[in-house]
Formats: sequence, structure tokens, C-alpha cells
Amino acid sequence: MRTVVCPGSFDPVTLGHLDIIVRASVIFDRVIVAVSRNPIKNPMFSISERVEMLKEVLKPYHNVTIDSFDGLTVSYATEQNAVAIVRGLRVISDFENEFRMALINKNIACHVETLFLMTRAEYSYISSSAVKDVAIFGGPLDRLVPPLVEKKLRKKLSGSFIGGCCDSREV
Ligand code: ADP
Repeated sequence: MRTVVCPGSFDPVTLGHLDIIVRASVIFDRVIVAVSRNPIKNPMFSISERVEMLKEVLKPYHNVTIDSFDGLTVSYATEQNAVAIVRGLRVISDFENEFRMALINKNIACHVETLFLMTRAEYSYISSSAVKDVAIFGGPLDRLVPPLVEKKLRKKLSGSFIGGCCDSREV
């Protein structure tokens, strides 16, 4: 059984993430989507909210499981007996960082490969941070995230200061 780990922040999961995960699930026996508890980042959604959204949108894919992890991705991948870490590649700027991370990971655990799947052209501009920016200013989200995530984003932002400041009474 060939297991791979798709690690990331998924804050929140986008159509670009889903495309990579689903394509990995066709190639490998088991895909673990692993939400990183990275203390450096300041997320919009909690770990449990991110895990719940991933579970819901990936429900139809029976060889995909969702988990969260602390620490090094390679250590987690080793614990899970994964043969590889799967990452998505968008624009050239992704490459430098991903290349560096893949070399560091190979240095720590030479038995874990890093594999890259190229984004689809229509998802190449999508990132979680772009999605949050569009959501904050009330823009359309239907081509960026699944409907459930759009609903969660709207709900999360409905009581926020930025949502409220559009009201002229607040200015
Ligand atoms: P991280 O903070 O670890 O980069 P992200 O949630 O931003 O976590 O991304 C997780 C993975 O998904 C990364 O490999 C990233 O390159 C990939 N990814 C993100 N957005 C897209 C997209 N639109 N198309 C393809 N891959 C993507």
C-alpha cells in the first residue's frame, strides 16, 4: 500500500488544493491530508475548523483521510509510513521555496521523496491568502473555493470589523 502525505496550512482549503489532493488520490493507494499546526502563521480558521472543512469536502474520496500534525513534515510522513510528500506547484516563485524545502527534507529523511504536481492553469492564481483577501472585501468566491468553504468564510467575516466598516454609520 503506497501512502502519501499532502501537507499544508489549508487556511482555508481552495479548489487548487482539492485538485492536487484528488489527483494524488488517483495515483496512490492512500492520501493523508495533513494540516500543519504551524505556530509562526496567524490563521483565520482554527485547526479543527480547517480539518472539518477538509473532511466535509473530501468525503466522496474513500482513500483520502484528514489529520493534523506538529513538527517536521518528514517526521510525520515517516510515522505514517508514507513513501512521499506531495506538494502542488503554481508559479515560478513557488519553485524556489519548494526546492529548498524538498532538499532539506531529503537531507533529514532520505527515504521520503517529495513529489510535485503542477497546478491546473485555471487554479494557478489561487492561494488561501488571495481567497481571504477577496472574501474580506465581499468579492465572488465561487471559482476559488467549494460552496461549503464560501459559506464558512462569509460567516467568519460577517461579524468582523472590516465587514462592519463598510457601514457608513461606523465611519
Ligand atoms: P503551505 O503553508 O504549507 O504552503 P498551503 O495551504 O498554502 O500550505 O499549500 C499547501 C499545498 O498546496 C502546497 O504544496 C501548495 O503549493 C499547494 N497549493 C496551494 N494552492 C494551490 C493551487 N492553486 N494549485 C496547486 N497547488 C496549490
